[in-house]
Amino acid sequence: MGYQVPHKVGDRVGVGCFVDSCRKCGPCLGGLEQYCVEGPTLTYNGVERDGQTRTQGGYSNKIVADENYVLRIPDNLPMDRTAPLLCAGITMYSPLMHWKAGPGKKVGIIGLGGLGHMGVKIAHALDAEVSVLSHSLKKQDEAKKMGADKFYATTSSDQESFEKLKGYFDLIINTLSVEIDWNRYLNLLTLDGTMVVVGLPENETPLGAASLINARRSLAGSVIGGIRETQAMLDFCSKHNIASDIELLQIQKVNEAYPRVVKSDVRYRFVIDTKSLD
Ligand SMILES: [Zn+2]
Repeated sequence: MGYQVPHKVGDRVGVGCFVDSCRKCGPCLGGLEQYCVEGPTLTYNGVERDGQTRTQGGYSNKIVADENYVLRIPDNLPMDRTAPLLCAGITMYSPLMHWKAGPGKKVGIIGLGGLGHMGVKIAHALDAEVSVLSHSLKKQDEAKKMGADKFYATTSSDQESFEKLKGYFDLIINTLSVEIDWNRYLNLLTLDGTMVVVGLPENETPLGAASLINARRSLAGSVIGGIRETQAMLDFCSKHNIASDIELLQIQKVNEAYPRVVKSDVRYRFVIDTKSLD
């Protein structure tokens, strides 16, 4: 495809969530390889284009990848805090760009975890007004430091937030992978507002048509981003000095860390130091 500047020995590079795609369908030719009609080759435990070879992921001190699917990491971004940008960062950047978050736009981020905290930083850098909708007010101070303008608790006892915010947002990004009442949140959108789902709850979620019809609202989904857009995201983060908040981990400690991942008890992404593999 050749839209990447060729990489050379010694360059700082990264590999994201996919390492190949069919390279000939509409989405691939349009730089949207994540939506490849045949499915992109996912980096961890995916299947190569030969239909049988398993990909081995990145928890290793070496990886072989086609240069067209390798990203350039700008010099001012630290490698450890940049790794999550290739997944969480692009997952938030892509919908924020596609639905035009920017000055004068009110953006709501549901959930302040690995995804949500990147959404706050990027939306803030885009000059949108950013609100976090979180289970409790526990992370309020941290969110404000990341650039959040407002913070609301969404526990069922807190009807006040939902009343106050009715018809407020232009764009809501739902980062949760647990089921929530989508209708409740759709009602927070203004005329022509969009709620984008980027998390993947296990069960299907009921949707009332009225929540959409009443204000010509849209419900949409989005997954990571293409190679070109991922590079643009890295360059954007470089320009605005944005990186992920992480806890760096020796690989020997993964079994202790995993239960904390399950409990969402991490500020805000674990990153494995591959030096600890040596
Ligand atoms: Zn394709």
